[in-house]
Amino acid sequence: MIARTQDYRDAVVIGAGPSGLAVARELEHKHGVETIVVDRAAAPAFSWRTRYDNFRLNTTGFLSHLPGQRIPLTAGRWPTRDDMVRYFDDYVARQHIKLELGCTVNEVVPAAGGWLLETSSGAIRTRAVILATGNYRTPTIPPWPGLSQFTGEVVHSGNFKNAWPFRNRDVLVVGAGNSAADIAVQLANNGARRIWLAVRTPPHLVRRAIGPLPSDILLELFAWVPAKAVDPIIGLSERLMWGDLSPYGFGRPPAGLKATVEQTGRIPTLADELIAAVRAGRVEVVPAVEAIEADRVILADGSGPSPQVIIAATGFSRDLGGLVGQLGVLDARGGLPGGFASHVGNGMFAIGYGIPPNGPLRAIRRAASPLAREVAAHLAAASCATAVHA
Ligand SMILES: Cc1cc2nc3c(=O)[nH]c(=O)nc-3n(C[C@H](O)[C@H](O)[C@H](O)COP(=O)(O)OP(=O)(O)OC[C@H]3O[C@@H](n4cnc5c(N)ncnc54)[C@H](O)[C@@H]3O)c2cc1C
Repeated sequence: MIARTQDYRDAVVIGAGPSGLAVARELEHKHGVETIVVDRAAAPAFSWRTRYDNFRLNTTGFLSHLPGQRIPLTAGRWPTRDDMVRYFDDYVARQHIKLELGCTVNEVVPAAGGWLLETSSGAIRTRAVILATGNYRTPTIPPWPGLSQFTGEVVHSGNFKNAWPFRNRDVLVVGAGNSAADIAVQLANNGARRIWLAVRTPPHLVRRAIGPLPSDILLELFAWVPAKAVDPIIGLSERLMWGDLSPYGFGRPPAGLKATVEQTGRIPTLADELIAAVRAGRVEVVPAVEAIEADRVILADGSGPSPQVIIAATGFSRDLGGLVGQLGVLDARGGLPGGFASHVGNGMFAIGYGIPPNGPLRAIRRAASPLAREVAAHLAAASCATAVHA
């Protein structure tokens, strides 16, 4: 059961996804700070349990673990959804992470000596709060003109489980990231009739691995080289890798790969199977969606395909407004200042917001330890201040 209002926790993490689990582990193991992780879901790492059936990591399993425990080698180079769920469950058990599940935090409010969390299970007071509610909290679909008149089905990629419901149907997938590519390939392999892939900005397309080396490890090698030095080399290798893809609808991306990641947060798309499906004519790459009518979609080139289903792989929002918006800590775009992990102020910390170039899981592992150190230092300083005033 959750502590009642009069009890102060040392640290409460909101969110039992990889970020929250990693920070909780570091706080307990390295700093002896008693930490509880609350989550609105009924199980930890819930976003991983709901990923689509054929999901595989697009970062290598060897580098995608949390602090203190590797993903078992039996999961191979590209662990599946089920491998990852097993891994996170085992992480909770072996790292002795204390969870309070089915507990939604509605608002974080300043309180004397720390924070008060208004939750569905009552109020919790804590000296330090760590926001780890995820960069991918709420599915977003662009407000396309006419969307409400569409008579077909609209599905967000976050709700796509497998291709079965779309057999023998014409489907427009919107987006050019990894989810869009995976979904288009699954539709092509599992009997959808016609598949269009609507792309606004041409993505950087990379292979999952080049020879024995996974692409994300190769990109890691370039981590310290400036974009203007490395991008021409990557651009050349992309052209050698795929040839000219413009006849298939994939134009040249407007900026180099590393510059794109740094400036826009868009990571490259793993495209081995997608390019094969496009070349085989199973997936047709088309321009961006401009508007929607009852039975057709108007694209940027004026054409108007008539899908029965639109699958919007159009991203997610962090949706932090309700939780902390009233504190004035969010920037104009609803984000938290300070990068992927930070001390927002007064004992409120955050991790997992932002898109790191070479894999969020790796970034979580790297950021969790320094953040836990900051939390522990804050608690130590706060308890000194209390002792002096007493
Ligand atoms: C389709 C997809 C594929 C990805 N593939 C990879 C990959 O291959 N490699 C990689 O490195 N990264 C990948 N990522 C990115 C990233 O690693 C994951 O999204 C990861 O789960 C982020 O962890 P997190 O803990 O920050 O957020 P989440 O996993 O989203 O966890 C946040 C938790 O907070 C809880 N929560 C939210 N609001 C509240 C509230 N108000 N009260 C209580 N609990 C709340 C949620 O229930 C959730 O359990 C992928 C992301 C997506 C969407």
